[in-house]
Amino acid sequence: MSGMDIECSICNGKADALFKRIEVWSNGRWRLTTTTYRAVKGLCYLEPVRHIRYITEIDGQEASEFGPVLSSAASALKAATGAEFIYVYIYGGHIPHLHVHLAPHREGDVFYDDLVKEGIELSEEVMPPLKRLRQFRAVSA
Ligand SMILES: [Zn+2]
Repeated sequence: MSGMDIECSICNGKADALFKRIEVWSNGRWRLTTTTYRAVKGLCYLEPVRHIRYITEIDGQEASEFGPVLSSAASALKAATGAEFIYVYIYGGHIPHLHVHLAPHREGDVFYDDLVKEGIELSEEVMPPLKRLRQFRAVSA
């Protein structure tokens, strides 16, 4: 398939073995895997099959499917695990192939929401440049 990077551990399949990932679903453009490697029960990865490095580079059919596929995968994971919430994380610094972490959240697990809790004093310096951010226009289908 075009759009593969043989050096990429997700494209060449080495990430599946390394992180003990098992594919549970694919539509040929997206795939969902789960793992026993991490400390969170039911952690899943959603990623494009095509080598797309970062969320800022997603395009094509993967871009138009991203929202519905993410929502469906999170719903299936919530139902399968009974978790109250599915946390969604995208990092990007470790393996340069877009992969979304879907983490069934349970009280006391390793994932936390301190970043968005009330009562944390932040200075204006943490705000992005609003003038530039307001230039955002969502791509419509
Ligand atoms: Zn890749």
